[in-house]
Order: sequence, then C-alpha cells, then structure tokens
Amino acid sequence: MHQTHMIIDGEQLSISSHNAKTIYNPADQEAVAVVSSGTRQHARLALEAAKRAFAVWSETSSEKRAEILHSAAELVRERSETMARLLTQEQGKPLKNARAEILSSADILDYYAEEGRRNIGEWLATHRGRSIVIRQPVGVAALITPWNYPVDLLSWKVGPCLAAGCTFVAKPPSRAPVAATEFLRAVHEAGLPAGAVNVVHGPGEEVGAELVENPISRKIAFTGQTETGRWIMAHAADRIKRVSLELGGNSPFIVCADTDIEKAAAACAQRAFSNMGQICISVNRVYVAEEIAEEFGELLVRQAERLRIGNGLEENVDLGPMFSREQRSRTKEHVADALNKGAELLSGGREPEGEAFDKGYFFLPTVLGGADHSMRIMREETFGPVAPVMRFKTLDEAIRLANDSNYGLAAYIYTSDITTGIRAAERLEAGGVGVNINNVMDHQMPFGGWKESGIGRELGLYGLQSFLEIKHIRLGL
Ligand code: NDP
Repeated sequence: MHQTHMIIDGEQLSISSHNAKTIYNPADQEAVAVVSSGTRQHARLALEAAKRAFAVWSETSSEKRAEILHSAAELVRERSETMARLLTQEQGKPLKNARAEILSSADILDYYAEEGRRNIGEWLATHRGRSIVIRQPVGVAALITPWNYPVDLLSWKVGPCLAAGCTFVAKPPSRAPVAATEFLRAVHEAGLPAGAVNVVHGPGEEVGAELVENPISRKIAFTGQTETGRWIMAHAADRIKRVSLELGGNSPFIVCADTDIEKAAAACAQRAFSNMGQICISVNRVYVAEEIAEEFGELLVRQAERLRIGNGLEENVDLGPMFSREQRSRTKEHVADALNKGAELLSGGREPEGEAFDKGYFFLPTVLGGADHSMRIMREETFGPVAPVMRFKTLDEAIRLANDSNYGLAAYIYTSDITTGIRAAERLEAGGVGVNINNVMDHQMPFGGWKESGIGRELGLYGLQSFLEIKHIRLGL
C-alpha cells in the first residue's frame, strides 16, 4: 500500500505503528494509503527547520528561485499520473478532474516562478531626499488546506510563498493528505534547501493550531470552513500575524429572461454538480426570471440526469462519490429541510440504486423548484450537488436576494445584454462575478471572498504580495 510520510527539515519521517492512519476510498472503502500522523511537537520541529531554511532561501536570487520552481513544476508533471490516481482514490473525484487538478498545480508553480522575478520596487525623489520602497518575504508561513481540492489549493499557496522567498510548513487535510504530500515531495526534491518545504500531518485542532499559535510562523494562508477561519483569525491576532483566509461560500446564479436558456442551464449544472458540489464557488442558489423558470427547470433536470456517476477510477465518469458520510448527510438534511418548507423535488434527492453504489457515498445530482430564503439550503453552504431554483420578477429583486447572504465568494449572472451584466456585476457583493461564464478563477487574477467568505486574495500578483512585507528606505541627501 502507498505510504505517506511527513517531511521535516529535509527528511521523510518513516511510519511507526503508533502514529499510522489509513486513508480509505470514498467510492468503495478500499484502503488507499497509510499516513504518518504527527503532533504539536512535529509542528514545532518543522517550524524551527523552516526558520533555519528561511535564512538561506530568502537570500537566494529570484532567478535561482524561478529555476527551482520550474523544475518542481516539471517533476509534478512527470509524476502527474500517479498523483492523479492517488487523488481520485482518496478524494473520489473522477480521474479526468484529478489529472486536471495536478496539471493545474504544476502550471501555478511555473506562473509564480516568473511572477517572483518581477518583485520590483519603487523610487521617489523628493526635495529633501530619496525614498526607496522594497518588498521582502514575510518569513515562515503556515499553509493549511481542505480536502476538496487538496493539491490545487495547496499550490495556490506554495507557488507564491516560495517565489516570495518564504519557507513553509504545510498541513494538508487529515482525510486527504496523500496526493498533496506527493506534490510537496516533488517540490522539495526540486532543489530547495532542507527545511524550506515541510509537511506535517495530524489533527487540525492540534497540528494546525500549533502552526497558527507558534510565534515562528509570521503568515497563515488558510483555505477551509468559515468557522475554522474565524478561530484562526482570532488566534493569529495574538501576535498580529498576516492571514489570508479563503472560506465558505453560498454563490448565487442569476438567469435573466433575455439569455440563451440552454447555455445558461448547462453552465449552471456544470458549476452546481461538478466535484459533487464540493467547490467553494459552486452554484448554491439559482434565481431565474419567472417567465422562463419552467423551461429553465426542465433543461436543468435534463442536464443533471445526463451526468454519469460512478467510481472515479472508471474512465468517462462525470461524478464520483461525495467525500464523506458527513458531507452526504448534510446534503440530505438540507434537501429534506427544503422539501418540508415547500420546495419541489424535480430530480435526484437520493442515492443512486445498484450494487456499484452500495459501499460509496454516492448521491444523485439534485434539482429543487420553488425554493425560498426560509430554507437552510438558500442560507447555509451545503457543499453538495444540489441546485435549488427560486423565481424572481425584477432584476433588482434578484440582486437583493443574491446579496442577502453572510457569504460573498462568487456570483454569476447570465444575460444577453452586456450593460445589464456589468451593472449587476458591480452591485453583487462577491469577490468574483462571472458574467455569462460559470467560473471566476484565473491563475493571473485575484481570487477571494467578501464578507464571511474570507480576507485577502490568492492567485495573480495579489497572491505573491500576500507573502511580502513592504519596507520604505529613506535616504537623506
Ligand atoms: P476545515 O476548516 O474543516 O479544514 C481545513 C483545514 O484546516 C484542514 O487541514 C483542517 O485539518 C485544518 N484545521 C481544522 N481546525 C483547525 C484549527 N483549529 N487550526 C488550524 N487548522 C485547522 O475545512 P474542510 O476541510 O471541511 O473544507 C471545506 C471548506 O473549505 C468549505 O467550507 C469550503 O467552502 C471551504 N473552501 C473554501 C475555498 C475558498 O477558496 N474560499 C476553496 C475550497 C474550500 P483536519 O483535516 O485535520 O481537520
């Protein structure tokens, strides 16, 4: 069976029986890997190693850092098939999506290799002197990530962290640490100094908490639940640490009457159901102009029922199982709550039937009609494959409903009138708005949330800057 080790100070720690944890495939409960699990003490050792390595890596030239990051990207590509299979087995997503995730993480390393070379300063001449502004690495970073995109979301942090000259300790999700650790092993083997890349496994409340509270870490880059983010922000406050928090979402999808309904329904289904709805920018609430609501609902159902569901290792599967029993239970609870409050079940709403699905956490993509804001599904993050549809009369009403949320990560609007689209985008309270597109993620552009969806931005130049401190050097002439 595959063995997943921690990496501390350049060494892989072998697994002993007292700290071994087995990871199981959510599609069939087969054992995937044995993982070494650590404690607060491992986190402390890793932070100390990262601190020693910081002295070397922060002084390494940006050209050399770029060369090493490009080599890391190549290593990830070379090992991508193995990594993708492990990712599918531990997380459940179809192999084609796992491959895309691994290759995207390699692209991120390449992107930041180059972005790191452009850490350009400023110079200003004033009548009494000269001012120079430089940006320097913030120090040792803690990178803490969730299970839904365990490699991609880690690469969003690893790339800018190393490009900026910081070193780090990563804490992958306890229940999906395998592919993420393989990714980190490739980065470590690309030629970084010992201790620059550390990975410690173990419970978030123990290992993660140590990374947040220990004075050595100067920056916490976190993706996960809003509740965990709240805890991290409060505890990072003790030492005024830098935080970037990518948290939960509850993204609205507005469909105007003038749009191409078929295209909008396909885009909505893809963003609501892929990765079994376990995406922070998933479509969670659908608002449709009442004159097209019936037709839109029928098209959405057709899209949902076309999707092939099965073990992610089978080629041509569109949807795998959900990640865990808890995720599926929560989804069922939200669906039941909506039905109790008057929603109509248009499709799905249950497990698929058949022996192939007996052991896994499968669930059918689900479409609900007649949704309203009294339902939990319209107010809380479900993190499951459900598209609840609510009708609206005017666009003002749709925007008011869309903004009636504690979250503000992504929002989408479909309309054939670009002026309507841009005006609505300006009024929607979200870190990213898709106008006639169902994705707000681009490696070169800022990604992050408003309100309780987070603080700070990842990706693009913004991602790099979040690992840099600003210094003003004043010259008297
Ligand atoms: P969690 O917040 O439960 O866990 C995320 C990570 O934090 C895990 O590694 C976890 O460790 C660790 N952790 C838990 N408690 C602490 C603590 N006290 N201190 C430090 N670290 C801790 O999130 P999930 O894994 O359940 O991920 C799903 C959530 O992630 C959803 O809400 C989703 O919206 C959000 N997300 C946000 C994205 C964004 O970009 N805004 C993107 C993707 C997901 P362990 O695994 O051991 O519990």
